[in-house]
Parts: sequence; structure tokens; C-alpha cells
Amino acid sequence: MNQDLNQRALHLLQTVFGYPAFRGQQADIVDHVSHGGDALVLMPTGGGKSLCYQIPALLRDGVGVVVSPLIALMQDQVDALEEVGVRAAFLNSTQTYEEASRIERLVRTGGIDVVYVAPERLMTQRCLDLFQASKISLFAIDEAHCVAQWGHDFRPEYIKLSVLHEQFPDVPRIALTATADPQTRAEIALRLQLEDARQFVSSFDRPNIRYQIVEKANGRKQLLDFINTEHAGDCGIVYCLSRKKVEETAEFLNQSGIRALPYHAGMEYAKRSANQARFLREENIVMVATIAFGMGIDKPDVRFVAHLDLPKSIEGYYQETGRAGRDGMAANAWMAYGLQDVVLQRRMIDESEADDTFKRVLGVKLDAMLGLCETLSCRRMRLLEYFGEPASPCGNCDTCLVPPVSFDGTVPVQKLLSAIYRVDQRFAGGHVIDVLRGVESERIKTWHHDALSVFGIGSDLGEAEWKSILRQAIALGLVSVDHEQYSSLKLTDASRPVLKGGQKVQLRQYQKPVKTSKRSTSV
Ligand code: ADP
Ligand code: ZN
Repeated sequence: MNQDLNQRALHLLQTVFGYPAFRGQQADIVDHVSHGGDALVLMPTGGGKSLCYQIPALLRDGVGVVVSPLIALMQDQVDALEEVGVRAAFLNSTQTYEEASRIERLVRTGGIDVVYVAPERLMTQRCLDLFQASKISLFAIDEAHCVAQWGHDFRPEYIKLSVLHEQFPDVPRIALTATADPQTRAEIALRLQLEDARQFVSSFDRPNIRYQIVEKANGRKQLLDFINTEHAGDCGIVYCLSRKKVEETAEFLNQSGIRALPYHAGMEYAKRSANQARFLREENIVMVATIAFGMGIDKPDVRFVAHLDLPKSIEGYYQETGRAGRDGMAANAWMAYGLQDVVLQRRMIDESEADDTFKRVLGVKLDAMLGLCETLSCRRMRLLEYFGEPASPCGNCDTCLVPPVSFDGTVPVQKLLSAIYRVDQRFAGGHVIDVLRGVESERIKTWHHDALSVFGIGSDLGEAEWKSILRQAIALGLVSVDHEQYSSLKLTDASRPVLKGGQKVQLRQYQKPVKTSKRSTSV
């Protein structure tokens, strides 16, 4: 009987979907869910999550219900299924009443195999009644990390999905996500009442993606160089923090001869979807976007993902960069990051509406992201270890290819801390660096800072080097930035042992932005 079901699954895979074999854990997941088991599936983007519920939905009696927050993509998903002959439809707010009624009838009479539904729709009494009155083969909860309250895609409607367990105790549930950190995993299991579900955790490594994080000098110009030298004619995504920067960057790229489209939530819906459709369809095109763009986007040949601003967390960074190279071919994840990013992100947390606990969580996530940027070891290792996956140096990231030089930064950090102290902890980074370098600016004269003992004690280093040292000192918690006082630099409890006790600080050597070789072929 088991054997029989497995054979039917393979037969469906080959005849309906046209693939010769299951990939990774797909076969085990399909087997488990087809037999009525609950599952929590963690698989990276592009891993092949859809088949994990589509095939069991076809093997089991009744209609498979897929809960997805991606209303904009439901049509595409349904089209893709219909193309291979699977009877599919969706229920969401974009439909007319008549259309919805027609689909509901199909669900009730079993005239359909798979139905996609938005979570807020599913929670309506009308929809729950409909499913009670129908034969349901399974519930698939896609993008299940949306249930995680402190995650980056939290959707309150997802919390209510626990009613599925209460109202449909006999229907198997499969929750799927590409977000893998252990906290999120635990939260999904808890909130969706999937503690007893079998967990299928795939490796999150994306070996074909090369990670590179460079010091930001002139971000846009660096981006242009990066695209021109490594990705001429390729498709890519450029992430920016603000809508304004998205618009400006897209315009800049277009003026520089690169076809670029903007995408952000402030754009008119029609324009936004038109740009998304063009990006999906066309070649040789770059999407410049805020993080509003990307969830569920399945474009296999995205050759690079670039960040012009620091993401808020490693989860976000991983998801965004994960949109590159879904076809398995070599791809680049490139980011330019600088002191301003750290200051800005810290300020956004301080000024957000969040309560103190939430702010602390955000701070911890940001610190982990900074740790990834400043790491002296393999980026991929840091990334995978963050997701609880042991790893070894990869040979396909910037720190593996050109190992950063570290140095004993104790003396320069002491100089920096002294300068901050001498200007009474009332000045921002730029001014403190001017004092260290002995720059005779108007401001310095006005404040008589050229008379300080620390004036010019750091003239052996350039401005970029000092910025790098300051950024690392902030990342290490040796310096804090006071946003309530014009971003002035302050000492912290951790400063004292370095300043007075000679506690050593190991830093990453500042490296002038260098061009890396063309894409690697070894993946
Ligand atoms: P995810 O939802 O995990 O991001 P998808 O389900 O969209 O991934 O699948 C990613 C791509 O891999 C799709 O183009 C899909 O058709 C393909 N794919 C999935 N499973 C297989 C398989 N067993 N063999 C070949 N290709 C597959
Ligand atoms: Zn590496």
C-alpha cells in the first residue's frame, strides 16, 4: 500500500509535472503528508516547496487548500497548475461575487483539486462553513513565517490559523517557509499548533551564490561598476531602504545605460504590477525596489541581488539574496555597507513605535547582521550558523577569496575613545574624525578643538580608515550613537576596559574597494 502510494506520487511527478525525480526531501515529505501526517517544512527559496503539497493534494481525496498571503501571485500559481492539467482556482478579494460563488460551488462538489485562499478570507465564517461542508484533502500554509510576531513579514491574520487544527482535526496540515532560524521555527510550531508535526529541515546553503560585502564609499557608483564589470546584460534586483532612493537609483541606472525599473509600495498598484510583470518576463532588466518586492517571485535567472542599504536582519538578508540564482547557476549577492547604515538602522529602531522588548529584539537582530558584515571569517559560515546549521569555509565568498587582514586595533580605538571623551561626548562621527586627523575646519576652530591633546593624534590614518574603525567600534558596542543629540558619539560601559585597562581589540583592516574577478564557474 505504501509502495503503491509512492509509485503513484512518482508517476504524478513525471507525467503531470514533467520532472524525472524528486529533489532533496520532497519524496519523504510527499509520502508523510499523503499518509495524513502533519509537517513543518523548512526549505530555501527555490528548493521546490510547492510540489510538497501539490502532489499530496492530488493523491488524497478532496480539495487541497493552500493558504498564501501573496494575492498578487495567486493568478500565476493557478495558471501554472492549469497549464499542466491540474484543476485549480483561488478565492480572494480581487474577485467578483459571482466568480467567488462559482469557485465555492466547485469546492463543495469536488470539481477542483487545489484552491488558493488568502488568510483573511479563510478566517471568514462563510469560508470556514464552506470547507466544513466540503471534502478537504489537506491545508498547506505557505510562507508560514508570517506567523512569527518578531519576524520581518508578520501578518496578524496568520495567528488565527490555529483554528484549522481545532475545526478540522482530521485534515493534515503542512506549513512551509524559507525562513529557518530556530526561533522562527519554534514560533511557527507553537502558534500553528504544529508541535507534533514532523519537521523537515533542508540545508539552507545556496552554494551557487557568492556573497560579497564591500565598504560603501559612493554606493551608486560602486553599484554601477559592479553591474558593468560582472553583470552586463544580466537580470538583477537592487534593494534600497527608502522609496525615494529606489526612484533615484532606478533613474541613475537608466541614465547610465542600464535598463532599470522601480518598485515600491508607494507606487500606484497598476504601475507596480506592470513593472513586476515586465521584470518577470523580460531579459536584461534590473528591478530597483524596497523589500516590498520579492516574496514569492520565481524568476530563475536573476543573476545578482545588490543591497545599497543594510538589511535589518540576517533573515531579511538571506531571503532577499535568495532570489538570486534560483536556476542553480552562479550568482552574486553584493552589498555596499557603511557607517551611515549602522547609524541609520540604530536610529530607526530607537525612533520606532515598538515597545522596549521589541526594540531589544530588533537590536539583537541588527547586531547579528553587523556581525556578518564585519566578520573576519567566511560569510556563508556565519550565515548558516545563524540558522543553526554547522558549516565550514566555503571558498565562494569575498572573505574566503580575499581573506580580510585583521590587525590589533587597540591603539586606534583608544585614540577614538579619548577623542570622543575630550569633545565631551557631544559631537558626531564626522567631527570626531576631523579632530583625530587634525583637520583645521571652521567648526574645529570655533570650538577650539585644535587645542585639545587629541587633535591630530590620528593623522597617520585616512578618513575612510577612521570611518571603518568607528563603524566596527559601534558594531562591537564600544561606542554608541545618541540620536536625541544630533547623533553625537558616546562612550559605553564596554569602553572603559579598552580605554583604561588595555583590553585588546581585533579589527578588520580597511581595504580599498577592489574589483573581484568575474563570476566564478566553480559552484
Ligand atoms: P519554492 O517554493 O521552494 O521557492 P518552487 O516550488 O517554486 O520553490 O520550485 C522552484 C523551482 O524548482 C520551480 O521552477 C520548480 O518547477 C522546480 N522544481 C521543483 N521540484 C523539482 C524537481 N523534483 N525536479 C526538477 N525541478 C523541480
Ligand atoms: Zn566563504
